[in-house]
Amino acid sequence: MANIAFIGLGNMGGPMAVNLVKAGHQVCVFDLSEQAVAHVVEQGASTQGNAIDCVQGAEFIISMLPAGKHVDGVYLNAESGLINHIAKGAMVIDSSTIDAATSKKVAAALAQKGIDFVDAPVSGGVGGAVAGTLSFMVGGSEAEFTKVKPILDNMGKNIFHAGAHGAGQIAKTCNNMLLSVLMVGTSEALQLGLANGLDAKVLSNIMSKSSGSNWTLDLYNPCPDVMENVPSSNDYQGGFMVDLMAKDLGLAMDASVGSQSSTPMGALARSLYAMHAAAGNGSKDFSSIFNLFNHSNNK
Ligand code: NAD
Repeated sequence: MANIAFIGLGNMGGPMAVNLVKAGHQVCVFDLSEQAVAHVVEQGASTQGNAIDCVQGAEFIISMLPAGKHVDGVYLNAESGLINHIAKGAMVIDSSTIDAATSKKVAAALAQKGIDFVDAPVSGGVGGAVAGTLSFMVGGSEAEFTKVKPILDNMGKNIFHAGAHGAGQIAKTCNNMLLSVLMVGTSEALQLGLANGLDAKVLSNIMSKSSGSNWTLDLYNPCPDVMENVPSSNDYQGGFMVDLMAKDLGLAMDASVGSQSSTPMGALARSLYAMHAAAGNGSKDFSSIFNLFNHSNNK
């Protein structure tokens, strides 16, 4: 069993840390929110009240933070950065969804101190974090991947080695850009059918057995009451927030510009999700984009 420090105990990090405790690891946790810390400590983790003391002697340091600036600050800040407190030979696993450039910058700075690093963003949402069934997309060397896999196995079901540092973030970005495009396309197709008198369940069944089949249609249908136990049938509560999809699409566009790639569908999806968020839907599930194409809104 390993000594693990876990920084960032929000919707995702909290349940991930709890799964490490359940697997028998010694887990010291820290978050700026005392409430978030208390919740995980109740489930068997320890805390030192600050991140610096938590990482002392830790073999693995895992972070699950909102954005690149937080990851940069937590590890590299000139005064409080953990880089000056993590033991040589320890392994940092950053599971936050951030830009690949920051992942590479942190990896390079830590390497100079003899500290290993992988970027390991996740897919699977809060449900996957609680159930321990997340997919991890790992960026790092073969040796680093081999070292982190047994730890990630405690929190996820599918652990992929995407490539070198930053590759995990790029894989996550590509996946979520495709997911957004599929969700927008599925939504407009279903609304087109409804506007022309079709029943959404009948149309969904036809398309999911035909060449339009895709994950958003078959397993996460955006039209209310086609499926049970999906956010669309629960007033778009729970699931994956519009704000987070808008954030991920911003990362996709940054990667696209940086590599001079052509991503017209992703660019359109980013604009649609930004507009949807600005209209007050930021905290709803991302399948609520379905309502943007509601023909009755236009009559
Ligand atoms: P969250 O806002 O619920 O949690 C983030 C936590 O980080 C908060 O508790 C906050 O207090 C803490 N934090 C911020 N700065 C800190 C610091 N300097 N030191 C310690 N703690 C600090 O976010 P979340 O939903 O848990 O998402 C975390 C990451 O996972 C994000 O990058 C997000 O894009 C990604 N992600 C989220 C989901 C999802 O469905 N929520 C799915 C996949 C990936």
